[in-house]
Amino acid sequence: MRLIRRADGYYCQFCINVDVTEEVEPTQQAIALDVGLSDFYTDSLGHKEPNPRFFRKGEKELKRSQRRLSRKQKGSSNRKKARQRLAKKHLRISRQRSEHAKRLARCVVLSNDFIAYEDLQVRNLVKNHNLSKAISDVGWYQFRVWLEYFAKKFGKVTVAVPPHYTSQECSNCGRIVKKSLSTRTHQCHCGTCLDRDENAAINILREALRSAIRSVETCS
Ligand SMILES: [Zn+2]
Repeated sequence: MRLIRRADGYYCQFCINVDVTEEVEPTQQAIALDVGLSDFYTDSLGHKEPNPRFFRKGEKELKRSQRRLSRKQKGSSNRKKARQRLAKKHLRISRQRSEHAKRLARCVVLSNDFIAYEDLQVRNLVKNHNLSKAISDVGWYQFRVWLEYFAKKFGKVTVAVPPHYTSQECSNCGRIVKKSLSTRTHQCHCGTCLDRDENAAINILREALRSAIRSVETCS
């Protein structure tokens, strides 16, 4: 058990050891997810999961409260109050985010047997100075933690692949098609024309399957 102090009060957390595995019917589906900035993710079937509206809204609210706080005089009680308000806002938004990540992850795991994504490193995420990028990275990280939690619970497979060249390679012929971040379409000489992130997601799925095969081969 541990006691935690949050902006809106004290909480008591219990840690209990229970078996949470649950049998579900196989869905016979495999999927890969590519993280984006404008969307929460794009999957290998071309579906784009939009960022919930509270992402933008929350970001704006935080900026506003931050500005208000910085205008208050140091050491004043008004500053203290403003700081508390900011902390509460942070808390509310982070709860919305983790609730969203949890719900979405459960849904993805229940509709697929094999889920692949990029292995994004947390230490790289913290270094980022672009606020909206940083927020989306943190959101993605939470989402991934929940994906792995539910995969374990429902007996599904998750594979994280190194995030190299997934957006540059053609998912059809393997050729490297250089594109800048602003190029949203993947267009290859082999005739493949796909949404940039969908192309990346297909590459992630292929790489994940390869690495799953490799790990089976090392075992046998
Ligand atoms: Zn191609």
